[in-house]
Amino acid sequence: MSALTDLYKEIALCRKCEIARSRTKVVPGEGAENADIMFIGEAPGFHEDQQGRPFVGPAGQFLEELLASINLTRQKVYIANVIKCRPTNNRDPLPIEIANCQPWLERQIQLLSPKIIVTLGRYSMAKYFPGKSISKIHGTSQTRDGITYFAMYHPAAALHQGDLRSDIIKDMQKLPGLLAQVKQTAVKETVSQPEPQQLSMFQ
Ligand code: URA
Repeated sequence: MSALTDLYKEIALCRKCEIARSRTKVVPGEGAENADIMFIGEAPGFHEDQQGRPFVGPAGQFLEELLASINLTRQKVYIANVIKCRPTNNRDPLPIEIANCQPWLERQIQLLSPKIIVTLGRYSMAKYFPGKSISKIHGTSQTRDGITYFAMYHPAAALHQGDLRSDIIKDMQKLPGLLAQVKQTAVKETVSQPEPQQLSMFQ
């Protein structure tokens, strides 16, 4: 039993929001516990609520295609949402729901310690790129406190606005290069750490 699965049990007991009462299943997140890349979407929809798993509906199918285009599968990354319960009739998450769920997401990030967090859509982007507009910053990254944040449109956006599809595909193509760069920077930082001074017998 991992710390992450223990956390899922705690999340399942959460009743801070009204939508915890109307949900079928809570959707904490899933994927590799040692993933370099964590994807954060918005909130569970109908299919996710039925199965208790993130991104298993049409948007999830497109996300899986995007992952395959860079040689990844959902089992090799970690996928979660800003909120863990399905908002009634798929409405937008309320600020109070986002705030109530924030500690769960933060603990997930802490336990996973991903190198890159990919924000999928406006709600996830707003947490890590406050005040920015997704049409301006999609496909760009920012590094803070050892994590690189990469903004993307939500995969569902391509299902509603076909013209965004090619932007989403292009943005996903940037991820392998970004990961290689992040790993390279981490190696350089490790190498340039000064060796601890050896104590000399004559000091
Ligand atoms: N949309 C999301 O933001 N998350 C899901 O899990 C499914 C659809």
